[in-house]
Amino acid sequence: MDTKLRELKTLLCEASDFRSANSVLGWDQSTYMPIGGGSARGRQIALLARLAQERATDPQIGRLLDDLRPYAENLPYDHSDAALVRVARRNYERLIKIPPAFIGEMYQLGADSYNVWSKARTENDFQATQPYLERILDTSRRLANYFPGYEHIADPLIDDADYGMKATILRQLFAQLRRELVPLVQAITSQPPIDDSPLRRHFPQAGQLAFAEDTIRRLGYDFNRGRQDLTHHPFTTRFSSGDVRITTRVQEDYLSDCLFSSIHEAGHAMYEQGIRPEHDGTPLGTGTSAGVHESQSRLWENVVGRSRGFWEYFYPRLQAAFPGQLDDVSLDEFYRAANKVERSLIRTDADEVTYNLHVMLRFDLELDMLEGKLRVKDLPEAWHTRYMADLGVQAPDDRDGVLQDVHWYAGQIGGVFQGYTLGNIIGTQFYATALRAHPEIPSEMQRGQFNILHSWLEENIYQYGSTFTADELVLRVTGEPLSILPYLMYLKTKYGELYSLV
Ligand code: ZN
Repeated sequence: MDTKLRELKTLLCEASDFRSANSVLGWDQSTYMPIGGGSARGRQIALLARLAQERATDPQIGRLLDDLRPYAENLPYDHSDAALVRVARRNYERLIKIPPAFIGEMYQLGADSYNVWSKARTENDFQATQPYLERILDTSRRLANYFPGYEHIADPLIDDADYGMKATILRQLFAQLRRELVPLVQAITSQPPIDDSPLRRHFPQAGQLAFAEDTIRRLGYDFNRGRQDLTHHPFTTRFSSGDVRITTRVQEDYLSDCLFSSIHEAGHAMYEQGIRPEHDGTPLGTGTSAGVHESQSRLWENVVGRSRGFWEYFYPRLQAAFPGQLDDVSLDEFYRAANKVERSLIRTDADEVTYNLHVMLRFDLELDMLEGKLRVKDLPEAWHTRYMADLGVQAPDDRDGVLQDVHWYAGQIGGVFQGYTLGNIIGTQFYATALRAHPEIPSEMQRGQFNILHSWLEENIYQYGSTFTADELVLRVTGEPLSILPYLMYLKTKYGELYSLV
């Protein structure tokens, strides 16, 4: 068994190394690559994706998984060998249904489309992206159709990102959430608006980056195993447990963007950095689902980073980092500004309360496109209509409308948005459990100490990587299945107080 297990790990690691090498190319494309590198880079990324797919579907992996099944099934469920064989089989059975040539085509299309989108977004030119988006919709449908027998065409795509989830479950969950959020947003926006002008003063880039780096280091992001660079759209990428990188962006006239996106990405990255190194190169060596990943980023960004206790410690440091800029702003005023709720246009800048409305409308549009109810050429109009209906705002153009998020243009329509809202729900569910175990977490935060929370997350969530599915993890950690109640409780308490709603 030992020899077979070693051979399996070697084969899986080779496939994983191809993917990691590809991630390096992708990271470089978004950070330092000159624009002239675009077309060759697209070809290189497509080639490595196809080779990774060929490696990952090597029939020898299938034979080894068959041979190892009896051994694995006799081990405890959470034993790392049992998990390795279980998760590797799940991935293998999924991957063998997709031809490597198709994967190559998809990645090529994604890379080409990304280049077109980058330019089109600056130039507010949706039409330039339309033929690419049409092909992406077509390949997304074809991808789903490699998994016949689904209930909804989005299901295979959702399942890949959030294993076990389906369009029908999500529609119900989101409807339930929407019923609570809409009146909450209504109640908040009928109160006098919070003044967030202190965040919109001039904060030089160098100072913002230094402050953000200092903050995330204190939260537990390890710069010896990571780094932060600048991109249009912040993201996290993992090459190995020893190299998990994040990116951010800076607006000199808006403090929130760099700081909160840095904390957000550090949340993703701390999850990846916290996975046991022994899982490196195996299917266990990455976060378990989009939703659980987002639970970590949103927990740090919002539940921690936008809490009053957090700012008790960090606000004097922020004032010192930008001398004179915030002298006339009290801690309370700053805390309120950082939590201003408003009906706005941009998802990534949206407050915690309206955020899910941005996500849910994208989720619905994805399903409509996949179902064939909405054509790509009608997407900008559908976007504006939904924003008006759900948030009461109208984007002046497509740049701040349908072109704002990279996701669809990067190669897939379907399965790419539900994780954000699942993350908000799961993150607060985890946090409520952490608080029950360690009621001192908030007072530690006021002293700038995050070790107890970070260790709790590492012990209960990070270390396992993909050992458990999202459902298993939530049940195991919190003792309950996925529930929106802790999230609603969190929002109602925090914003009830901020906006004197009682
Ligand atoms: Zn995220």
